[in-house]
Amino acid sequence: MPAPCPFCRSSETQVAADASGQWSTHCTDCGASGPRAGDHDEALARWAHACEGEVLLRTVIDESPDIILLKDWNGRFLLGNAALATLYGTTPDQLVGKDDGHFNPNREQVDFYLQNVRSVMLGGETQLVQESSTNAETGEIRHFHSIKKPLRGPDGDRRILVIAHDVTDLQRAHQVIEERERSYAYAMAAAGEGIWDWNVERGIVTHNASWCALLGFPPEELQHPIEVFAAHLHEDDRGTVLASIETALRESGHYCHEHRMRRRDGSEIWVLDRGEVVERDAAGRPIRMAGCVTDISARKRDEQALCKATEALAEMNARLEQKVAERTAALARANEELRLLARHDALTGLPNRLAGNERLSDEFIRMKRSGVPYAVVMMDLDHFKSINDCHGHAVGDAVLRHTAEVLRRSIRESDFVARFGGEEFLAIIPASDLSGARVVGEKIRQSIEASTAPIVERLTVSLGLALATPDHDDIHVAMRQADRGLYRAKRSGRNQLVIMTPAP
Ligand code: GH3
Ligand code: MG
Ligand code: MG
Repeated sequence: MPAPCPFCRSSETQVAADASGQWSTHCTDCGASGPRAGDHDEALARWAHACEGEVLLRTVIDESPDIILLKDWNGRFLLGNAALATLYGTTPDQLVGKDDGHFNPNREQVDFYLQNVRSVMLGGETQLVQESSTNAETGEIRHFHSIKKPLRGPDGDRRILVIAHDVTDLQRAHQVIEERERSYAYAMAAAGEGIWDWNVERGIVTHNASWCALLGFPPEELQHPIEVFAAHLHEDDRGTVLASIETALRESGHYCHEHRMRRRDGSEIWVLDRGEVVERDAAGRPIRMAGCVTDISARKRDEQALCKATEALAEMNARLEQKVAERTAALARANEELRLLARHDALTGLPNRLAGNERLSDEFIRMKRSGVPYAVVMMDLDHFKSINDCHGHAVGDAVLRHTAEVLRRSIRESDFVARFGGEEFLAIIPASDLSGARVVGEKIRQSIEASTAPIVERLTVSLGLALATPDHDDIHVAMRQADRGLYRAKRSGRNQLVIMTPAP
């Protein structure tokens, strides 16, 4: 029993001899016949061998992801593989003997197939055709690149072999990529900021029109070697910018820098340039970096103006401070002069009553602290009124100046003398006991008496002396005693020193 027909799968196969005595196996359903042989068994064996090859071929055809089909002149399928059957929602067996119109609802496509295969069959040349097909069930249109090869059947009838490669998914992927590229290009063109996209491997940077406008390049010159970018960096900033980019490539992947760039016409702009490594190769090496550049010249100008204004303000401030310091020093000097003036007697140049009282307070505090007494001497010129009366006020003044001079000379540096009133004087002798103070007081008295005063023949002074001691409550205790001493000296005939000793 011969094997079933490998073409139509009919089991109506039989072995028979022809008129010339040659044996062969043939299918009574589709008419396919096997190789001829000298006897019955040989014909059967050759048929089996051929069937094996056909089955193998059939398997390859059915397993092919590409559509493979064989059609006759009328477009009827002589063979169709599983891929075609799937597209038409049927089985390979069901395809045989039917045409595209039986499965494909799209009349236009069906007519095109028939016209196309007929023209290929007539042309006799293998052709590559781009065509579409509609899925019978889903209505989905799929696209194919089809190889169409015209053949002849055993009876010389025209046939055509079609191998159609489904390129729908590939085309869609291309469309997606194209759309993305278009969107990217639109975004690049529309962006107000300068955008750059650096292919690190090729060393080429693609820019948008805004970048070109920013740097003064013609808008159509969108691509430049990376060296063009480097060349347009301001010479003073180039080193730090390139180092920053190098760090981004090697380490962080991120770049952000403010620097100056030279436009094509040589003018200078300040920019804020930011970028990221957006693609790396399998080894992690950066192959693409993209970013944007913003013109910050106006901000920099404002900052510089602000900086200058701040400097000017600081300078003005310093000048003002210097002036204030000068004024303050002058005021301090004036104050000091005023202080001295307020404490000096204009006629004699001696410290006045205010200075005398201050000095008494100081001495009192010092004495309270150290426990060492000081002496107070109150003095009054004798019969001074008569000098004024006899010789005039000017002579009186001259005598007062003379007295001051004598007093100054009579005391030591550490002692103190002041004009305390009209012709009254005060002397303070620090760190003193009564005998030491007596020497000073007597010396004063004698010096005045021995001096040669202007105009007047004789000038004398009466003095009262007392010791200020730590048991005193205030400066006035010793002052009052000294005053009493002075009063006594006047009463006792003048020109003498009366020492008041504390009551026992
Ligand atoms: P006594 O010996 O009692 O002190 O007699 P006196 O004349 O000195 O007494 P009195 O204190 O009454 O006189 C002081 C005079 O000193 C009165 C006043 O006219 C005079 N006098 C006070 N201040 C000045 C001054 O600055 N210049 C002059 N020329 N005379 C003055
Ligand atoms: Mg007097
Ligand atoms: Mg007097």
